[in-house]
Parts: sequence; structure tokens; C-alpha cells
Amino acid sequence: MIELRLPSPLAELRDERLGDIRVLLKRDDLIHPEVPGNKWRKLKYNVAAARDLGARTLLTFGGAYSNHLRATAAVGHFGGFATIGVVRGEEHLPLNPSLAYAEQHGMRLTYLDRTSYRARSSDEVINRLRREFGDFYLIPEGGSNTAALLGCAELPAEIAEPFDVLVCAVGTGGTLAGVAAGLEPRQVAIGVPVLKASLEADVAGLQRAAYGQRVGNWRLEDGYHFGGYAKRTPELDGFVDDFEARHGPRLDWVYEAKMMYALFDQVRRGAFAAGTTVVALIS
Ligand SMILES: *Cc1c(COP(=O)(O)O)cnc(C)c1O
Repeated sequence: MIELRLPSPLAELRDERLGDIRVLLKRDDLIHPEVPGNKWRKLKYNVAAARDLGARTLLTFGGAYSNHLRATAAVGHFGGFATIGVVRGEEHLPLNPSLAYAEQHGMRLTYLDRTSYRARSSDEVINRLRREFGDFYLIPEGGSNTAALLGCAELPAEIAEPFDVLVCAVGTGGTLAGVAAGLEPRQVAIGVPVLKASLEADVAGLQRAAYGQRVGNWRLEDGYHFGGYAKRTPELDGFVDDFEARHGPRLDWVYEAKMMYALFDQVRRGAFAAGTTVVALIS
């Protein structure tokens, strides 16, 4: 079985630029070397539901560099499920490291053209996949569904220190939607979108599906996508290098670098009152 480090460690970030703001890193990236923490939290109750239903195969969707496809392959491999990864776009050989890892861990890869991929939740596409692959437990792109929110909602209670604000990166929004639902009423979650699209409706929609309404105090802090998903700039690269030199961890530039950049920028702009404790989620 898969061995996990839970609760994930909490470490104070000591940096003179933070002034009177206390920042704690919630190191979900240390839960498992091969599964980013939020991906594991999102899969936890999906895997339990798949088991309860007697499913033997997990099928899910992702782009070619998806951490979620990788994580699903690992969870299937260690948890005894066959896995099918439906990848957006065409096959490119040799496989990139994410897809090579997925395949090495038993994931069967199949490809959908971009038009079909956009319709991936439609009955037509799902039925076509069922005809081709037989029965499966379906997990949406990024793993974000109601079961995923319940897993992420457990995170705030793991944080043993009092805190006021939790900051996380936002891709599909499942992590923010779940974490916000687990906050105490006086706490707030701030999501930093790593893509250009407006994600407010996605996060609220995930919460409505899971809880029937918007829950918890949360908001998005736009303006830190650096050109869009998986886009980077010399400024962002410089920030990642500088953070590594000061603190050790090398931030993943697709997600965590943008989140951490936003946090430092918000501190510099005076967005937080003196004495605020902020938890930065590193997935
Ligand atoms: C997937 C991922 C995210 C984004 O999570 P969502 O729930 O899709 O918003 C953030 N950080 C890392 C490292 C990830 O792999």
C-alpha cells in the first residue's frame, strides 16, 4: 500500500521581507514523493467510492503535463486499480516525463482531439469511452468533484497552529473549494489562479454541487498568472531562484511559484494587517 506522511509538516518561513506577517508553509508536497499532496487529497474519497462500487478501473482526463494523470496512475498502481488516462490532443513520442511515469505505473493512455476533449463530460464521449474500455469509475479532469472537496476540506483541521488566512494556487479550483469549506468562520482562504480564465464560477459551482451553496470565506486574487497556464517570465524564474537560495525548496513554477509570488506581493502592498498568520499551501 501507499505510504503517506500525514499530517503533512508545517514550517515557519523566516524572511525579513514579511515584516509583521507570520507565514507558515503547509508542506503537502511532502505527503508522498510521487503524488502532489492536493492530488492525493482529491483522490482519497474517489478511491474509497470506487472501492465501494466494486470498480476495478479508474478513468480520468488531463493535459499532457497533468500532475493529476500522474497521481492517478500512482494511486492506481499502489492501490490495486487499473487506470486509463485520457489525454488532451495528439500523442507525441517519446512521451514526456509525466506521461512516461503514468505509463510505467500501469496507466493505459488514450488521446482525444481538442473538440472531443472539450465535450469530455458529455454522454456521447463517456459512452464512447465505455464501449472502448468497459466499465470504469470516472474522475473528472484535475480530480475536482464532490469527493475531492471532502478530502481537501480535511486540511485546515490538520493545521495545529492558529492562523487567519490560507493561500493556495488555483487550477481547476477543487482544492480552494474544499479547503475553504473546512475553515473556521473567522478564517479566510485566498486562491491565486495560475491561468487567465476567470475561475470564480468554477469554484462556486464545485461548492454548490458538494454542499448546495457557497461555503466558507474565500476569494480569488487575480493578476498573478504570468501570461497563462504553464507560462513563465524571467521575473517568475528569478523569484523561484531567489526563493530557493533563501529557503531551500524549489517552487514548482506552474503552481506554487505564482502563489508564493502573489503572497509576497500582497504583503508588500499591505494587504494583511500586522500580526496576521498566513498559511501558504505547497502542494
Ligand atoms: C493540481 C495542482 C494545483 C491546483 O489544484 P486545483 O484543485 O486544480 O485548483 C496546485 N498545485 C499543484 C502542485 C498541483 O499539482
